[in-house]
Amino acid sequence: MNAKVWLVGAGPGDPELLTLKAVRALREADVVLIDDLVNPAVLEHCSNARIIPVGKRGGCRSTPQAFIHRLMLRYTRHGKCVVRLKGGDPCIFGRGGEEAQWLRERGVKVELVNGITAGLAGATQCDIPLTLRGVARGVTLVTAHTQDDSSLNWQALAQGGTTLVIYMGVAKLSEIREQLLAGGMAADTPVAMIENASLPYQRECRSDLTAMEEDALSFQLKSPAILVIGAVAACATSSLWERGLPAMTADQSA
Ligand code: SAH
Repeated sequence: MNAKVWLVGAGPGDPELLTLKAVRALREADVVLIDDLVNPAVLEHCSNARIIPVGKRGGCRSTPQAFIHRLMLRYTRHGKCVVRLKGGDPCIFGRGGEEAQWLRERGVKVELVNGITAGLAGATQCDIPLTLRGVARGVTLVTAHTQDDSSLNWQALAQGGTTLVIYMGVAKLSEIREQLLAGGMAADTPVAMIENASLPYQRECRSDLTAMEEDALSFQLKSPAILVIGAVAACATSSLWERGLPAMTADQSA
């Protein structure tokens, strides 16, 4: 029996950013449940799978999570190999953890396959190194959207000295800006907003913490987009490279 569920990350959009393991899972699949942030071009790797769209974009008509769970269970009980294909990485704001647990509790064999998460891909596509010696010693991935309205520790984020990568932030720009300013982040902190990262119609808008909301409005920034906030977000567009970074000094490059 090959009955199992592969929880697979399809990456940010560019089909070349798919992993070889994801390709193998797609080849083996009898059924593929595909989220709507996944580029359907990756389905070319399927041999003979039944494709079922189960998108859940915020604000749109969505497939209830419980239904998706039951669907995966039903197919595996019929001995099928199911690929649950998600945008980016399945476990970065992708419910991969929840789904794996739910299935394992019911005795279903589950295998998780990494994908390149949108935040990493978006930054790289714009030549932004998320960590950079002497500039950013860490990176924090955050979602601006919660279902339970729990609040983030904005002060810690504002003062943590790491690059912030914010997912699902397009509708929350005003709150993000205000909270980070109130938390003590410098008003001129560089911001990059990257829409449709890695796709041919990718767009990027560079700004800073003070102007980000206004700039996003005139740019007509739309979801899906990620925000990169921190000194590194000025890379490739501004003087940050030209000034000569601390990371470029001889002793650090040794
Ligand atoms: N599991 C996904 C994230 C899903 S949450 C991952 O690892 O990438 C959905 C959010 O991801 C979107 O609101 C947006 O913030 C971000 N996102 C997904 N694909 C994107 C893309 N191609 N470009 C920019 N942001 C993207």
